[in-house]
Amino acid sequence: MSNREEDGVVTDAESAFKTLGHDLRLEILLALWEAPEFSLSFSDLRKAVNERDSGSFTYHLSELQDHFVAETDSGYELQYPGHRVLDAIQSGVFHEQATVGPTELDETCRECGSSLAFEYGTDFIARVRCPDCGNRALEWPFDPGGTASRDPSAVVEAFDRRTRLVWSCALDGVCPFCAGRVERELASSVTDQGTCIGVIEQLERYDEYFARNHPVLVSVDCEHCSFYSFIPAGVVLLTRPAVTARLHDADIRIRDRPLWSLGFVVDEAAVSVQADPVHAEVAIVDTDKPLTFVVDETLTVTASHGE
Ligand SMILES: [Zn+2]
Ligand SMILES: [Zn+2]
Repeated sequence: MSNREEDGVVTDAESAFKTLGHDLRLEILLALWEAPEFSLSFSDLRKAVNERDSGSFTYHLSELQDHFVAETDSGYELQYPGHRVLDAIQSGVFHEQATVGPTELDETCRECGSSLAFEYGTDFIARVRCPDCGNRALEWPFDPGGTASRDPSAVVEAFDRRTRLVWSCALDGVCPFCAGRVERELASSVTDQGTCIGVIEQLERYDEYFARNHPVLVSVDCEHCSFYSFIPAGVVLLTRPAVTARLHDADIRIRDRPLWSLGFVVDEAAVSVQADPVHAEVAIVDTDKPLTFVVDETLTVTASHGE
């Protein structure tokens, strides 16, 4: 959520965007990406982008050179920043709007037992909801690129995998978008024993958050870019081998089931918050064996006492 208003950062970013602000330059990047050996000679590159004016071509290529494109013994090649520009374009968030569904899912609503449905809309949010009672099981942004070459059921699966990856990276303190440092803390709007943790009730955007009814969440805030959000506390359990082994023993196969079918992730009743010291308690609700885990302020997970 960091607000980078320092002159230097803005000027550098402006100059990078200006460098890319010409059709021919983007065409050069695309042509190098599509080249059979990912490399083209000066004349082949000029042919590939169909630029007759040699002076103009030389000028635009030189503007990209050394940062986005490099000249090697075998010709011109994309550099890492050039790849990242193409990746950002292919994610579709700048120029595409895709819609998927609603498509009925195998999993059922934890509130009313009806089938859940997946829907992806032009606001870039993928939603798993109950069409009957309106229960919002899980919602998270998804890139339109994720809908390319996939049928709706494959989009649903990709959304589940991508969301896990983004959440797990952020919970490990690494921004999934800029690689910057992510601040993580337990956040709760519940006042427990006189202790109020976090500030989520002050954030208007939180009203829209699908898990706003959870008594405690993990807030994640990138110090370097605009990424900040909240993640259900139960998600922390998914990347702890000592926990996942216990879940496996209890016949809960976390890789075979989507996030919205895992009660300890999406069910607000599975989560509680305690003070002194602040910690979340996450109960595994879909098993005969009672299991509860404690997530402390450092996101360390331990089995609850007596289990
Ligand atoms: Zn329902
Ligand atoms: Zn970031």
